[in-house]
Amino acid sequence: MPIYEYEACDAGRACARCRTAFEVLQSLKDPALEHCPECGAPVRKLVSRCRAAIAEADEGRDRVESRVKEYEQQGLWSHAAELADTHAAKVGDGTLKMRAIDDYRKAGYPLETLEKHAKSETE
Ligand SMILES: [Zn+2]
Repeated sequence: MPIYEYEACDAGRACARCRTAFEVLQSLKDPALEHCPECGAPVRKLVSRCRAAIAEADEGRDRVESRVKEYEQQGLWSHAAELADTHAAKVGDGTLKMRAIDDYRKAGYPLETLEKHAKSETE
């Protein structure tokens, strides 16, 4: 499931959440956010910093796991989740998938979204 980054168009009207870039977990079907979910200020989509993580998913399982672990140690939960998730989907690895879900949860994504996501690809 892709993570998108947004930031306020006008920093002067931004709240604590959107003043700096914030991440949103969205389905491909979801329209791009136009307003901050906290304060309603107009936001624009950024090119995701997670691209690098996705490209690295071509690596072998051991490399991927060690990078996921690195991200986790740095507290970069969404990066760890995205990398684990992408690789899990590619190779059909259920263990890695659950780890991704766990990292998404630590990153603060809503449980309901994650449950849907967990079901969508494991069935
Ligand atoms: Zn805001």
